[in-house]
Amino acid sequence: MSIAARLPSILIANRGEIACRVIRTARRLGLRTIAVYSDADAEALFVEMADEAWHIGPAPARESYLDAETILAVAKQANAACIHPGYGFLSENADFAEACAKAGIVFVGPPASAIRAMGLKDAAKALVEKANVPVVPGYHGAEQGADFLRAEARRIGYPVLIKAVAGGGGKGMKKVDRPEDFDEALASAQREGKNAFGDARVLVEKYVLSPRHVEIQVFGDSHGNVVHLYERDCSLQRRHQKVIEEAPAPGMTDEVRAAMGKAATEAAKAVGYVGAGTVEFIADGREGLRADRFYFMEMNTRLQVEHPVTEAITGLDLVELQLKVAAGEPLGFGQADVTATGHAVEARLYAEDPEKGFLPSTGKLWALRFPEGEGIRIDTGVEAGDTVTPFYDPMIAKVIAHGATRDEALDRLGAALSETIVAGPRTNLAFLKALTEAEGFRNGPFDTGFIERNISGLGAEPQPLDAAAVAAAALQLEEERQAEGLLAAAGRSDREARSPWLVADGFSLMPRPALGLALLVDGERVEAQIEWHEEGARVSLPAHEIGEGEHEITLAQAERGTYLALHRGRQTAVALFDPFSVDLDAAAGTGGVIKAPMHGKLIALFVSAGEAVVKGQRLAIVEAMKMEHVLVAPRDGTVTEVAGEAGAQVAEGAKVVVLGE
Ligand code: ADP
Ligand code: ADP
Ligand code: MG
Repeated sequence: MSIAARLPSILIANRGEIACRVIRTARRLGLRTIAVYSDADAEALFVEMADEAWHIGPAPARESYLDAETILAVAKQANAACIHPGYGFLSENADFAEACAKAGIVFVGPPASAIRAMGLKDAAKALVEKANVPVVPGYHGAEQGADFLRAEARRIGYPVLIKAVAGGGGKGMKKVDRPEDFDEALASAQREGKNAFGDARVLVEKYVLSPRHVEIQVFGDSHGNVVHLYERDCSLQRRHQKVIEEAPAPGMTDEVRAAMGKAATEAAKAVGYVGAGTVEFIADGREGLRADRFYFMEMNTRLQVEHPVTEAITGLDLVELQLKVAAGEPLGFGQADVTATGHAVEARLYAEDPEKGFLPSTGKLWALRFPEGEGIRIDTGVEAGDTVTPFYDPMIAKVIAHGATRDEALDRLGAALSETIVAGPRTNLAFLKALTEAEGFRNGPFDTGFIERNISGLGAEPQPLDAAAVAAAALQLEEERQAEGLLAAAGRSDREARSPWLVADGFSLMPRPALGLALLVDGERVEAQIEWHEEGARVSLPAHEIGEGEHEITLAQAERGTYLALHRGRQTAVALFDPFSVDLDAAAGTGGVIKAPMHGKLIALFVSAGEAVVKGQRLAIVEAMKMEHVLVAPRDGTVTEVAGEAGAQVAEGAKVVVLGE
């Protein structure tokens, strides 16, 4: 019996790229696809792709994608045979899985009991330990007093890691190197755990040295079969979050794979696992991967973000397998039938600014283009014209490359990233590209600290003004201005003004001396000069050097009068300087107003009006997207105003603290 005969329709309780990805397979298998969406996603790609779409609430996830009751009500009304939860949101919510079952709707995922058993990191460790799976040494008991945990940390030996037991997505996790930092880290982990997961409990474990994150994809069916589909190496991380993932793991041997695969399938069997799951291990990489040096960290009871690299090397469609298992069919193959071909790498393309501490970036996607090519797969949920909002995970796309060898896969990934165009929000494109070329990553050995250690070599620090990008945009702006002037003089239409030939003619007819041009570049005033020579126009920036050589720059038009110049994965916003429309204080960067870097929640305020502060002192913490952002004093001074109070929501750019002399 076909899958569609048993499960004729599917509701996707998620959004963005994973909703699109699930819809693709479901459609190929002949299922009717049902999307649910929030106010913020009314025009989203996944809504457009689905056969039908139901509105479920306002933008905040809590009132839409996390609203289990509403989603279930829609599923019933739409007559959905099954619900795919994607990842994040309700995917690891055992109560939701149970409620689906009660409503007679198949939950595409493991039984609620398995989700529950693996849901908390402490209980999961205790459980798999009984199944003889090695776990990271540490304390994962019920006692939560600070004195007790501090003593445990000392017993375990520094460095240690404090983890919120309910944590996920790298949240609620603090590495502590020295005993004197323990209390502050504990408070922070508890606060994040409480805020994000409603559970302040933590565990403390040994921080494994030269850590490598190697995880095993497992699959079980309802007939008692459990297999693994090889491993993925996700050691390229920043703040415990994956950036680049690959399969197979570099340096993996048959012996270690067999040992890890066995541990993973044992862990899965211990909870009666059915469907797709991932068992995450941390390996001590000081002497390469060894069968006796890896430890269970947690099990993710869902489809993983990085599942495409496994699909690339195994040739399997994991969503199809999920649906097959959900339909009650046996997997239909055994461990010996699983083979891997070549090497695959995935890069997570994010709307964030590596040059500003990876601050998430939002806004309209004025231009968006992905390459096509041999071995390249793009999983995205957005199109040009869409907006990256502050409400959800800021991932724009996953760029996946497959090749015969690791080098070929990385070369293909690098080339694909070079050809990718994103204008609007800042992105980590240049950073990802630098990673694909980084010698230490290419030739190893590397561990989860690689990115942090090489942060400046990877370009993730403030960069000087991109003069070549500014020059290209300046020329464009000046050409447009001239064309407009010429056309106005000749009484021609606006449409004709778009012709580049007309602009060029304009130049040859009217040679001019040098022209000074005042620009606004990323909010700052910059002077440019344009000179016209026989061979064309030349732009110079008196205060900046334009590097010699080829500059491949793409210009994307944003709001009227602004060009986004894209150059080697970096973006520079350039407009003609208009003294009447500029916040001069902000442009000069000298104001004493400390603003919220983005939409979020003010979770702590450390100062009050009248207090003297020194440069670098912590003023407040804003929690946004996935992280805590600490606002520090840009200079010495006295606090003259504190706007807002702890617990309040703040908008991007909102005043938080004002600093006087
Ligand atoms: P994975 O282990 O699959 O790579 P993570 O452990 O990083 O994924 O996080 C789990 C999933 O939850 C991710 O897909 C991530 O995008 C999603 N997620 C984490 N935090 C948030 C959030 N604040 N909002 C929306 N999605 C989130
Ligand atoms: P999450 O639920 O947020 O994914 P994990 O327990 O999977 O939390 O840990 C996230 C990351 O933190 C891991 O991928 C790994 O890089 C790092 N990590 C976790 N535990 C340890 C450890 N004991 N030693 C070193 N690094 C660790
Ligand atoms: Mg994890």
